[in-house]
Order: sequence, then structure tokens, then C-alpha cells
Amino acid sequence: MYRTHTCGELRLADQGKTVTLAGWVQKSRKLGGMTFIDLRDRYGITQLVVEADAAPELVEAASGLGREFVIQATGEVLERQSKNPKMPTGEIEIKLSAIRILNKSVTPPFTIEENSDGGEDLRAKYRYLDLRRPPLQRALALRHRLAQEIRSYLDGQGFMEIETPYLIKSTPEGARDFVVPSRMNPGTFYALPQSPQTFKQLLMVAGYDRYFQIVRCFRDEDLRADRQPEFTQIDCEMSFVEQEDVLNTFEGMMRQMFKNALGVDIPNPLPRMSWYDAMDDYGSDKPDIRFGMKIREITPLVQGCGFSVFDGAQYVGGIAVPGCVEYTRKQLDELTEWVKRPQVGAKGLVYIKCNPDGSVKSSVDKFYTPEQLQAVAVKCEAKPGDLVLVLCGPKRKTQTQLGVLRIEMGNRLGLRDPKVFAPLWIVDFPLLEWSDEDQRFYAMHHPFTAPKPEHEKWFYSDKKEDLERVCANAYDFVLNGTELGGGSIRIHEAAMQERMFEVLGISKEDAEYKFGFIINAFKFGAPPHGGLAFGFDRVCALFGGQETIRDYIAFPKNNQGRDVMIDSPSRIDDAQMEELFLSSTYTPPQP
Ligand code: ASP
Repeated sequence: MYRTHTCGELRLADQGKTVTLAGWVQKSRKLGGMTFIDLRDRYGITQLVVEADAAPELVEAASGLGREFVIQATGEVLERQSKNPKMPTGEIEIKLSAIRILNKSVTPPFTIEENSDGGEDLRAKYRYLDLRRPPLQRALALRHRLAQEIRSYLDGQGFMEIETPYLIKSTPEGARDFVVPSRMNPGTFYALPQSPQTFKQLLMVAGYDRYFQIVRCFRDEDLRADRQPEFTQIDCEMSFVEQEDVLNTFEGMMRQMFKNALGVDIPNPLPRMSWYDAMDDYGSDKPDIRFGMKIREITPLVQGCGFSVFDGAQYVGGIAVPGCVEYTRKQLDELTEWVKRPQVGAKGLVYIKCNPDGSVKSSVDKFYTPEQLQAVAVKCEAKPGDLVLVLCGPKRKTQTQLGVLRIEMGNRLGLRDPKVFAPLWIVDFPLLEWSDEDQRFYAMHHPFTAPKPEHEKWFYSDKKEDLERVCANAYDFVLNGTELGGGSIRIHEAAMQERMFEVLGISKEDAEYKFGFIINAFKFGAPPHGGLAFGFDRVCALFGGQETIRDYIAFPKNNQGRDVMIDSPSRIDDAQMEELFLSSTYTPPQP
């Protein structure tokens, strides 16, 4: 037996026991002839001590230990002289009688402790060493716990876990596919799934009724904004359901996950907000409702007073930032520059200070009377001491900019505590999005999403205005300003699916080539069905109170989509290229 206990297990109650531990030497230090060793495994750290008067072989073995040596150590559990209340094992230490080195280690390139001195690139190269660190072990343990909660909940609800293939044909999530050349079918390619969307729908046609899978998906996108080329979804589909059934089922799943993994109770039922209200009030389809500062339209209050910037705008809106009346000239100038950055894209910023004495002071005092400015402040629900910030321009664009500004002010004011959770559903999305550039509609979710039944009349109209009015039977799960998942009730009739492809400007031939199999399946008695998928990596990160998903993935890729540990992607040899019917003469430009 290698060990009697783990390094996180022993307590004062174990005093006097003879134990054997095994693990990694995190640190070893000498103090007045004694050697103290911190021994680590994934359960914790235990202090080992070799007394000055111990057997000479033991003293020698202890002094030869380097960082990350793997050892087996036997000794007696003693009460510690100087206790460490921060460590669960901090009341005891093991007085050693034997040490056996199981394996030596070269000096690791960075410290493997709670906080490491290693830079990101170095830690990525030695990911297996970084993974020894407690924060990463906690992250993966949380991921594991959540996966178990998901499986137990969905199993309890009658869902079946069914695997779907990775080597498939293009899927409709709208990103670029990763492709895999087929050796046995010269000149042809598989695509890796962007999601199992079509397969889960086919499983419904096949009568499986309730499906789920914790599944890898692949999207060849630019990797800004904390994305990974391969990521994991909690993918689900149900038959004979309406939107209400889907929302209730997955609210239940989230409730269990919050309760069992974090001990947090989320509201029951969860709030729901239409996409239109989310855009109008928060300037975002993933509103952070942990704080107010709602966007208010003030267009009618500010037009016709001679301020041409507002007079010429389609929309003028403002937010009241609590307690920021004291903002100095310099801070306001800085904020103005901030909204003008390309990431926000506003042309300028107007402010109204609501002084504690009830008076107002603004950057547009020349054009407006104090009463007019007061009216704006009232509309924005400002209180004395608040700072009203105003932007103008095209409606949705300006709302989006105000939304970004709102989040920024929320951050600056510390209103976005990662330990506070405010989940909600966003519903009633538009079904279609018009692209001026391409002069065509795109599906806002994906082309299998059904219109709301009461909007079907517009779906079959040829007028652009009618099609723009159609709401989708779709929903997103949003937590703290992040979209964690989304889905829809699907189209289940071949004729409606064909109409959808027609609206999206996909020719009959193209639709047949890409999605003929599913249109055909719908002709064989497809049940009404719907579902959704959650981004599991992001769920884990948010539950863990972190912004980035990378810590919650054992072996992630960097911003260039590279795994620098295994050095991938990499070139393959010419013979393999030829076997795959790929030209081996092309040399990519060297970076
Ligand atoms: N397949 C969709 C996605 O990946 C989710 C869904 O509609 O179920 O976003």
C-alpha cells in the first residue's frame, strides 16, 4: 500500500497514529537542524518534519529532497507547535521515521503553489505542472461536480445520454467549420460538428423523446473574447414540448446545480425578459441585472430646442450613474474618450450632473433650461448625486453603446460582484436579422428555429417589414451579463423548413445538398420538438466566479488556437499529405 491517508486528510483527532503519505514536495526548508517539508497531493498539503536528532540516513534523505520530488513518507501524527489556521491540516504535522523517494524531479520552471510566479505562456507549455496547482484543481473539481449534477438531474427527468458523431457534414451554427480530409473518399472532407443540432433533431424523429449529451463542439472562429476552437456544450432536446416545458425543465437543472455545487438558491421562477425589453432597457441581449442603471429614451424631451446633434438623431438615450456627480472635468473627458473608442463607437458624450441640492449642471446648458434638464433627469430615474450620461444616434446602435457604457460604469462602481448570481431567460427574439451588406436575412438563432405560432402569418409574407416582425420561439439563458445557453422550439414540418431556407435565400439545390437529409426526415412523422444547449466551459467559469474559461478546461488552446504543450497544429509529412490527396507543394508564409 502506497499510502494510508491523503495529504488533505489528517486532523488533530489522528494524533498518535502512524501514517504513510505519498505526494509531491512543494517546499522543503531547514530550520535549526530540523527539516520541514510541505507534501502536496490533490487533496491538500501536510507538513512533514524530520527532527535534528533523527537517524542520519533520514536527515540526509530529507536534505536531498528537491521541489516536485515524489516521495512516500511514514511517521507519527503530532500536534503542531505553531498551528496554521488557514490550512485544514494546519493543526498537525508528521514526525517522520522513513522517507522513500519514488521519483526525482528536475527543477520545475515555475512555482507550483496557490499563486505561481510563472507567466501564462510558460505555464501553458507545462500545463501538466500548472494543473498540479490548487486553483486549477479546484476549477476541474467544480467542473466535475457540475457534470455529475447535470447527469443526475437529467437522468432523473428521463433524459437519455446519446453520443453523436464527430466526423459529419457542415452544421448550421453560422461559424466556419473545421474539416478533416477523407482518405477513403478521395477529394472529400468531413466537417467537425459546430453542435450536434441536426443529429439531436433526428433523434427526436427517431422517437428518443428526451436526449442530452455533454459534448465537444468545434468552431473555427477568431479567438478573441475568451473562446476556444473546441468547447463543450450541455446539449439537450425534447419532444412534444412547448417553450414553457423547456424553460421549466432547464431552470430546474440550473437550480439543482446552483444549490448542490454552490449552496445558492436562485429565484423560482426565474425572471423572463423579452429581447425587445432587454435591448431597450439594457442595450444588450444578455443583460446584467445585478444592478439597475436602466437605459431610458429621452428623444422627445431633447429635440426641438436648437441642439442640432440631438435634433438630427433617430434616438437619444441616457443612464443615471449613481453617486457620480463629483466626476471632475478630467474624468468626464476621459469617459468621453472612452465612449469614442472603436470598441464602443459613440460620437460624443453629453452629461447632466444632478447636484445634491437639487440643481442641475450639464455640458449642454446653452441649449436647455434647467427645467428641461430636470425632466431628462426624472425620465432617467436619476437621484440627487447622480450623473446622467447621454448618447445619441441610430436606435439599436445607440442602445448597444449605452449598454456597453452601463457595464463599464457598473464595473467602475463595483456593482458586478462575481459572488452574486442573477440568472434570467431572454425570450421573443426576432427570428430573422437583415444584413444591409449582404442584402439578405440571416437566422438570428439557426435555421431550424420555428417562428412563434401567432407570427406565422408574417413568416409566409413576401414583405421585408412583415418578416422583420416575426418573433422566434427561441430563448437564451443569461447569467450576470453572459449568455450561458440558448435554444428554440424547432420547425418540424418539411414545408415550413423549406420556407425557412427560401427566406434565408438558400437555393433549393443548396438546401437539398446541405440539409436534404433533415428535410427528408421531417416527411416521416417528425414530432413537435425543441431544446437548447449551454456552454459548459462558461457555466463552470461563472459558477467559479471567474471571467475566463481556460482554467476550467484541462488542456486548452491559446489565443492563436495552438496547444503549445504538444505543439499543435503542426505540419504532417509529405507522404501523409499525398495519401490524403492534399498538395504537399504549398509552403505557408513563415510568421
Ligand atoms: N445548437 C444550438 C447552439 O449550439 C443550441 C440549440 O438550439 O439547441 O447554439
